[in-house]
Amino acid sequence: MLTSLRDVLHDLVRDLYSAETQLIKALPKMAKAASDAGLKAAITGHLEETREQAARLEKTCELLGIKPKGKTCQAMKGLLEEGAEVMAEEGSPAAKDAAMIVAAQKVEHYEIAGYGAARVFATVLGETEVAALMTETLEEEKAADAKLTGIAESTVNDEADKEGSDDPDEPEEDEEDADEEVEDDEDEEEAKAKPTPAKMGKKPPAKATAGKR
Ligand code: FE
Ligand code: ZN
Ligand code: FE
Ligand code: FE
Repeated sequence: MLTSLRDVLHDLVRDLYSAETQLIKALPKMAKAASDAGLKAAITGHLEETREQAARLEKTCELLGIKPKGKTCQAMKGLLEEGAEVMAEEGSPAAKDAAMIVAAQKVEHYEIAGYGAARVFATVLGETEVAALMTETLEEEKAADAKLTGIAESTVNDEADKEGSDDPDEPEEDEEDADEEVEDDEDEEEAKAKPTPAKMGKKPPAKATAGKR
């Protein structure tokens, strides 16, 4: 039952614990499925952090006097199902990597929302030790998200674009049209995969916001 902010925090912490434990199982599979060496390394590195994050949540539960287990994060279950769909899909390694980066970033954004709220609630409730633990993890999640953005922009998106460029239905984009094409794109994921900084000779919109969160 939810009758106080403390109840909301307890549920949120247990939800995050479920999310992290699901990730500990899923990340090794994602690392194996990734083709780009940098992406593989980023996922493996974040797996190590994720184990620490789960431990931090156990410590959090101790501080709050609750049990960490007993809740299933349905959102993470769904996000990981989407990730598994991408991995099972046929296609070029770079295009699959680009799609996997999107799936992984959706996971990070979900976690950022959860830890951000948990930190605020803990602060309001005077649980400063809990708030500090939440901040630590929150910063790791933000860094993981920024790292994925960097990998997409530096290698994977360009590779994925090259592989698709011999498609006769898709005309080569020239420098002048590049901006417009991104804006006209109704699909956000496609738009994310489109910017080609090298060709455009200037920073794409995604880069301007990267790391600001
Ligand atoms: Fe996490
Ligand atoms: Zn969750
Ligand atoms: Fe959830
Ligand atoms: Fe994460």
